[in-house]
Amino acid sequence: SAGREARSERTLAIIKPDGLFGNHMDAVKKIILESGFRILKEKIIQLDEESAASFYAEHSARSFFPSLVQYMTSGPVLVMVLGKDDAVSSWRTLIGPTDASKAKITHPQSIRAMCGTDAEKNCVHGSDSPQSAQREISFFFHSMPSAGVQAIEHDEL
Ligand code: ADP
Ligand code: MG
Repeated sequence: SAGREARSERTLAIIKPDGLFGNHMDAVKKIILESGFRILKEKIIQLDEESAASFYAEHSARSFFPSLVQYMTSGPVLVMVLGKDDAVSSWRTLIGPTDASKAKITHPQSIRAMCGTDAEKNCVHGSDSPQSAQREISFFFHSMPSAGVQAIEHDEL
């Protein structure tokens, strides 16, 4: 079917260390697939400080930044490229607000309400715009072959 179907939008999703440690990978992937996303690429990696800091560079001046880098390097993460029409906003809606403790009250059906804890440990990441998605997908799948230990790599396309 090469070339005949419109290419769906893509977004970058991450199951963060608390999500993997808490054994939420299967539940999150089930929600992803049942919500009509295709998992186009996925890999489990261990971020080092430099790559975590670079991924979250926009937050480098924030007081929570050192803690954020510590958290994101505290264990492996599952990084995925998701495809769907309107993938970016659809995934952001599904994960819910940043602060998981608030999400439990205001968005109890969201993924962050299900498996996150607080404003930092919120279980999952989603790109915030198509531009961010492009940057983040390139960051993990085109420009960091050596950073991190790759345990799984799977390419649908
Ligand atoms: P989002 O992940 O919803 O796009 P941000 O881009 O604002 O949220 O922040 C990136 C990540 O930094 C969050 O997912 C969370 O892990 C952490 N973070 C954001 N705000 C705070 C905060 N006030 N205190 C601690 N950690 C935070
Ligand atoms: Mg963000």
